[in-house]
Amino acid sequence: MRVDFRSDTVTKPTQGMLDAMFSAEVGDDVFVEDPTINALEQKSAKLFGFEAGLFCPSGTQTNQIAINAHTRPGDEVICDVLSHIHVYEGGGIAANSGVSAALLNGEKGQITASQIEGVIKADNVHFPKSTLVSLENTCNKAGGTVYKLNQIQEIQALCNAHKMALHLDGARIFNAFEAAGYSSLDIGKCFDSISICLSKGLGAPVGSVLVGTQEFIHQARRVRKRFGGGMRQAGYLAAAGIYALDNNVDRLKVDHENATELGKAFENLAFVTKVTPVESNIVMVHFDSPDTTEIIMDLLTKNDIHALTLTPTSIRLVTHLDVSSEQFDFALNYILKMNLS
Ligand SMILES: *Cc1c(COP(=O)(O)O)cnc(C)c1O
Repeated sequence: MRVDFRSDTVTKPTQGMLDAMFSAEVGDDVFVEDPTINALEQKSAKLFGFEAGLFCPSGTQTNQIAINAHTRPGDEVICDVLSHIHVYEGGGIAANSGVSAALLNGEKGQITASQIEGVIKADNVHFPKSTLVSLENTCNKAGGTVYKLNQIQEIQALCNAHKMALHLDGARIFNAFEAAGYSSLDIGKCFDSISICLSKGLGAPVGSVLVGTQEFIHQARRVRKRFGGGMRQAGYLAAAGIYALDNNVDRLKVDHENATELGKAFENLAFVTKVTPVESNIVMVHFDSPDTTEIIMDLLTKNDIHALTLTPTSIRLVTHLDVSSEQFDFALNYILKMNLS
């Protein structure tokens, strides 16, 4: 039985989702004439209390568009050193927008208002302009960590005081809602723009949505075209996104329960040095040496259980909707009695 914990992006559309895609009404979205895309954008915006939304092919694109629309070349974005926008977007901050990054060593991928305050540049010709702060919730590279609402609100107050925009990379924001208990409207109030992924835990095959004010999204739409993200009858894809928002949000708690159980199972194994405390759907397991990592990955793979090597001494398992309870039980039972001899 194959169990794929490499990423929550490996999910495939269900029959219900495919039916919704098949019957979508479509039009030319560059003319803003695709009714299904318009509906997804409106639905997403409303969910977070914003005026407008923009459907894009990927979360990298929504983030990169947001950075471009919030800044001018020579500006800087303040973010945690583990941020997806910095680590995993091909150097796009510099390449696409001529912007530099002030990187902070946060805790678990989370930065504080006082850390940010410490790196805001004075208005002086020597310095880049600090015009944007970007947060990631949950933080991927830190292991699915979840911000507290008051921590975000303090950052928002600081951004307001310094006239900096505040962007959220919310690729897994619905996991944060499930884990932390705050709502989409609570979060919407804190940010100038939010990027949400439909193709992670929500199970759509493609797509992210950027939400913000009418004015911001107007500019973002211009940037999307410039970045080559103007799609035509992509309502077939947006229909999957609408279906995902309607059907796949509440079940994220199952992923979190599964991740917690996996974490506990690994914690009890003698050859595991540490499991990063599980906060949402990502489990990070650490070993004492690259050799142990290799042995464990070999054993898992031989049993058709698939994880991702993150560093020479750590692996990552992500739970998602394409792990059935049978698959999960099979994998858990194997891990519970894993041994190296
Ligand atoms: C996956 C992810 C994205 C977007 O990735 P794409 O593959 O471009 O859709 C952005 N931010 C975070 C934190 C992610 O985990």
